[in-house]
Amino acid sequence: MRDINTIDVDVVIVGAGFAGMYQLVQMRRAGLSAVVLETADDVGGTWYWNRYPGARCDILTVDYSYSWDPELEKDWIWSERYATQPEILRYAQFVADKHDLRRDIRFNTKVTSAQWNSDAKRWRIHTDSGNDVTAQFYVMATGCLSMPKVPDIEGTDRFNGEVYFTNSWPHDGVDFSGKRVAVIGTGSSGIQSIPIIASQADQLTVFQRTPNFSVPAHNGPIADERLVAYRQDPAAYREEARHSGIGVPTTPADVSALEVSPQEREATYEEVWQRGELAHLLEPYNDLRISAESNDTIRCFIHNKIREIVKDPEVAELLCPTNHYFATKRPCLDSGYYATYNLPQVRLVDLQKQPIETITESGINIVNPAISAKEKTESMAFDAIVFATGFDAMTGAIVGVDITGRNGESLRDAWAHGPQTYLGLMTVGFPNLFMITGPGSPSVLSNMMVSIEQHVDLITDTIKHLRANGVDTIEPTELAQRRWVQHSNEIADLTLLPTANSWYMGANVPGKPQVFLPYPGGVGEYRKICEEMVTRGYLGFALT
Ligand code: FAD
Repeated sequence: MRDINTIDVDVVIVGAGFAGMYQLVQMRRAGLSAVVLETADDVGGTWYWNRYPGARCDILTVDYSYSWDPELEKDWIWSERYATQPEILRYAQFVADKHDLRRDIRFNTKVTSAQWNSDAKRWRIHTDSGNDVTAQFYVMATGCLSMPKVPDIEGTDRFNGEVYFTNSWPHDGVDFSGKRVAVIGTGSSGIQSIPIIASQADQLTVFQRTPNFSVPAHNGPIADERLVAYRQDPAAYREEARHSGIGVPTTPADVSALEVSPQEREATYEEVWQRGELAHLLEPYNDLRISAESNDTIRCFIHNKIREIVKDPEVAELLCPTNHYFATKRPCLDSGYYATYNLPQVRLVDLQKQPIETITESGINIVNPAISAKEKTESMAFDAIVFATGFDAMTGAIVGVDITGRNGESLRDAWAHGPQTYLGLMTVGFPNLFMITGPGSPSVLSNMMVSIEQHVDLITDTIKHLRANGVDTIEPTELAQRRWVQHSNEIADLTLLPTANSWYMGANVPGKPQVFLPYPGGVGEYRKICEEMVTRGYLGFALT
């Protein structure tokens, strides 16, 4: 039997991405002992794992960066509007060095289970490294998009060629020169990597289940009015982001897309298309997320853009998303995605019409009725298959740990029909367990940096408040949690968001309960609700 070494701290934090790193800083500032446990061998989270070619942020990096260290705003200059994964990872490492974070992070340490001890009023955390941690407070900084979705395709293990997953890409990179490559999946990772893989490979076949909306990034040096606004007064700029809809300074529109003439609308869409910012595409009209008719105007605009770019009309139609409204799935930002389909070595397979039968030792078999009247299977040979198949979003990494709360209840059981939280921060039956950007908070509907910082600050203030008042435990009340879930669903139902089979709904993972996972009320509104909760004496929480 292995020796179990136990360390005891005030706060255990799981995950060393941007959330866990900042939480560690705040715990130190509060004078609390804290340890971070992390599966990877360095900091960075998302940006440590997702090293696929073309990986970039899709929120301007000037917005997608920490605001809690004013020196950082001067010390770190981003080289592009949308930084690449290596640059964002270097930024995380720079912060870790500057604040000497690694001395409190246990790398190569995966948390496997956690139990609440009601007598001791502490959590015991078990890891795969043989070390246990006990702590009064347990913070899950495990990420919304960190648990890869296992591909549900017959024969996945059978392929003898090279296999890559965008979310755990080899650190030395991959050279596809001279190879026949398959990419399965056309979500954000697929859309970012496909143009680069196509430029290297001999042949590229893209397998698409659902087309996604993508917008050109128009990437390049940061030289726009946004930077000017930011440089003039970084503090005011950040404050505006904190009170905005999605965590990026924008000006909310007060006019419907249907109130203006088609010519004016077209000109506006053209202008925001040329700006290359997702936030701006939803900005010009106030009802794009709530009115199907209004959304159709931008949907058609983007369809026409795809038809302009893609020369083969049949391929263009396959790339036009028709089964969901714009931005009801997370739209993508690309560099040359649609034009890639004009290259002679690139083929698009529409899995709705030509589903994968199986993956074989040498490639992929699809059902292709066009082959002949008798033979319906088309066998394609590949040297490499790239799975860009996404994540078990928002809940995957949380229920990936076997968590047992008060009364021995398992979190997996408690969430069997969908996650139940109060404010996306805590859940009934699991005292002193906080989730950063958990389900029921704005999280993936926002610039995550803003949402992460807000949750970390809230958790920190809460722990400080409990300590200062001699309170041992905090847990939401049943009523508050029920009302929050209801409130979140009611807002979602006012929008088009739940109409799409998206990962926001858990629809990409077979068997996952389909509920709308993030809080759709906006970053600024959510912040106000949290502030009011605190002002009213932690309304909705039981403090014991
Ligand atoms: P993560 O960065 O996911 O870190 C979680 C960490 O927890 C990981 O390192 C993981 O190894 C660790 N972990 C999980 N479970 C365990 C366990 N059981 N034991 C130990 N360690 C564990 N958001 C934006 O706002 N803008 C963007 O442009 C953007 N681009 C993205 C691009 C990609 C390719 C992806 C995948 C996501 C993107 N996101 C973006 C979302 C992104 O995840 C967040 O912005 C942010 O990086 C999340 O930070 P985090 O610390 O919360 O989680």
